[in-house]
Amino acid sequence: MQYYDSSIIQKLPHLVEYFKSGIEDEHKNISHCILFWGADIKTQCELALEIARLLNCKESGDTDCECLNCRWIREQAHPAVKIYTRLDYKEASESSEEDEGSTGGKKNINVAQARGIISELAVTSDYHRVYIFCDRDESGNLLPLNKINFPEVTSNALLKTFEEPPQNTTFIFLTNDKSDVISTVVSRAQSFFVPSNVNVEQNFELVQNLLDNYWSIERNDVLIFEQNLTALADENGAVEVFEQMQNYICILMKENFDNKVLFNRLLRDLEHVENAKRQATLTPPMNDSVICENLAFKMILN
Ligand SMILES: [Zn+2]
Repeated sequence: MQYYDSSIIQKLPHLVEYFKSGIEDEHKNISHCILFWGADIKTQCELALEIARLLNCKESGDTDCECLNCRWIREQAHPAVKIYTRLDYKEASESSEEDEGSTGGKKNINVAQARGIISELAVTSDYHRVYIFCDRDESGNLLPLNKINFPEVTSNALLKTFEEPPQNTTFIFLTNDKSDVISTVVSRAQSFFVPSNVNVEQNFELVQNLLDNYWSIERNDVLIFEQNLTALADENGAVEVFEQMQNYICILMKENFDNKVLFNRLLRDLEHVENAKRQATLTPPMNDSVICENLAFKMILN
């Protein structure tokens, strides 16, 4: 199954630019443990492969670069870039008994796979290794990590490696929600909410006034921000307002990817808005004004 798709640059420009600027930095200023969360695992995988390409490119990292590394990654034939799922593993003859639930239909990335990674990493490589952890079905459709397909026993075996990986190694985890991954892994990773269906054509005019320079709003003025947000939600529906907020925050992130402090705040607020959107779609839904109040306080006071 082909997962690489160069249109990821148009789809998620704010995140691609962020990683590109980090990678181009002389200190390769990106985390070696990255967690993507959100509904769209395929898009997350495309982003992970694009990061792998930028990390391995021997030229300028341009989209149409024809260096060997870029070509290999486009063809998913790069020796050091691996999409790691419970199914991508040739079972060794000896089966380990401590490894519950991994027999027969192979339900998870097991400890034997973890050990395989550790011994692989003991040998140095000329490439930048990228391990993308997720799940897939037999037909190759990508699925999110959860505590069943990526169990605690496996993450524990790899914990030290995640914490102090050898040079030029990056781990990327793909999941729907941070709570689906063992907390010891989440705490070691830098996490990014990856919005689905992002489209630069998408609307944001309802929220543009509300969000312009919202990061300079004084803490004392949080109630004004909250009232404006609540009024917008009353008038247009909370979910619509939250979606437009996400669209606009993505644009702001793209414009500000070289301002790390602001970028990280926008990234965090994108997650807050995602949580608010989730609360608004619960059955029964939470009260919109309560959701808006919580969101306003998180965005302005934190
Ligand atoms: Zn290249």
